[in-house]
Amino acid sequence: MQSKSWLKAGLFAALATAAFAATPARAQGSLVMYCGVQEEWCRAMSTAFEKETGIKVAMTRKSAGEIYAQLKAESSNPRGDIWWGGTGDPHLQAAEEGLTLEYESPKNKELHGWALDQWKAAKQRSVGIYAGALGFGFNTEQIKAKGIPEPKCWADLLNPKLKDDVQVADPNSSGTAYNLLATVVQLMGEEKGFDYLKQLHKNVSQYTKSGAAPAKAASLGETAVGIVFIHDAVVFAVQGDPIKPVAPCEGTGYEIGSMSIVKGARNLDNAKKFYDWALTPAAQALAAPAKSYQVPSNKAAPVPAQSPKMDQMKLINYDFVKYGSSAERTRLLAKWDKEVKALP
Ligand code: PLP
Repeated sequence: MQSKSWLKAGLFAALATAAFAATPARAQGSLVMYCGVQEEWCRAMSTAFEKETGIKVAMTRKSAGEIYAQLKAESSNPRGDIWWGGTGDPHLQAAEEGLTLEYESPKNKELHGWALDQWKAAKQRSVGIYAGALGFGFNTEQIKAKGIPEPKCWADLLNPKLKDDVQVADPNSSGTAYNLLATVVQLMGEEKGFDYLKQLHKNVSQYTKSGAAPAKAASLGETAVGIVFIHDAVVFAVQGDPIKPVAPCEGTGYEIGSMSIVKGARNLDNAKKFYDWALTPAAQALAAPAKSYQVPSNKAAPVPAQSPKMDQMKLINYDFVKYGSSAERTRLLAKWDKEVKALP
């Protein structure tokens, strides 16, 4: 994955913003956007698209599992047009269940192979917009106060001294937490992976709804460890908070953050316009100024200097087709509810 300077990224974003600002808004109808990343980035995207096209965007931010559940609940009367962002697994499940629409963007040829792999796995119903690796962030002051070594590995999170001091989201609502569930199953095997999650449960103080929330809690010292996408911990580290992002020593999983058009979208043309625009380098450059440090999917989009270096990590060969399948995701979530969350 390429790496360019932060300065260049900022300049690019500034130019992109200036270009949007210079374009007069025209009344062009509306777009209902379900947004799966952090609120600030969601707002930057919807505002810039509105300015560029005059299309009024009604945006709602939710976690990936929640957006999937909403599409399913609304399938007989779809309200949304575009689902932008969030981990790829629930996008794949929605694709398999026919909740989203096939689309081939003219921008596809500008994308990294991993973004197109998602498009192929989804039978053209979803495409990769960014990538990010899973890990955790720990509060350096809290770890020091506990007198334990800095955690470097998944195994270190089972230290009894971390009892009630680890936060992670609930995989039913959060794409991040489902990514963790699928990662440990792939990394350790299903039996050992579930054993690990049961042990971890003893240290988990609460399962949050949103995947990135534990990073903020760790940055504030409300928890010693937050299991999150590494870029979500970087957000707080770069602003000087006492949090250290970690790529676990045993290896880790990663996400292909994705985008899909809702089947039955009332504003289909506008959804396609958004889709094409969201794949441009200019739109993808809006991430870093909105404090989102994922690796963008357009090869020409600047990679923020803060982006975790995925090519220097031990990444598992994440099986997106299997773990994004309706049967596997449903089965693993039900098993986690029964065997992990139900534990005292
Ligand atoms: N925030 C960021 C910056 C992400 O990259 C992602 C995943 O794509 C999420 C949040 C996922 O949120 P959640 O785990 O709440 O579905």
